[in-house]
Amino acid sequence: MNFKDYIRVIHDFPQPGIRFKDITTLLQNGEVYRGAIDELKKLVEAMNIDVIAGPEARGFVIGAPLSYALGVGFVPIRKSGKLPADAIEASYSLEYGKDKLAMHRDAIKPGQRVLIADDLLATGGTIQTSLNLIEQLGGVVAGAAFLIELNYLNGREKLGDMDIVSLVQY
Ligand code: IMP
Repeated sequence: MNFKDYIRVIHDFPQPGIRFKDITTLLQNGEVYRGAIDELKKLVEAMNIDVIAGPEARGFVIGAPLSYALGVGFVPIRKSGKLPADAIEASYSLEYGKDKLAMHRDAIKPGQRVLIADDLLATGGTIQTSLNLIEQLGGVVAGAAFLIELNYLNGREKLGDMDIVSLVQY
């Protein structure tokens, strides 16, 4: 299955110069969406994961079905102010913009092996911040899984020797 064929590229969104990778065109095709999750499952199976953590909002779209497929739990990484219980926060920067991410303090048990899942790896800022939060909670980041990786932004280098898998590269 050539997943790239199902991703739509929108020029100058959300601001001039950005070539936005729109995955909604992939998600709306049930066979392709399932195929992508099944493929990611194969790539991460050997990582011995206890739980998946996914950043809001597109990380939920990849992380939650992958959790279901692997039979492991799912933990949301949310924007500041959205989580109801006691949470920790860290600030981060995107390919465009800046924000804060948060996790519930009891979301990860010390020593748990965590897979971070998101739709897209760009500069790596979101994942680095997620890693920071997970490690503060005592979790061990076993790896990260993405539908898309933007090679020209070198996010992978920022993440050191983290085990990273992606289905489509630009
Ligand atoms: P990073 O923190 O620079 O790696 O940016 C990755 C985050 O920004 C992910 O959570 C993506 O959802 C979002 N993002 C950045 N560029 C795009 C894009 O072209 N399409 C969809 N999401 C994007």
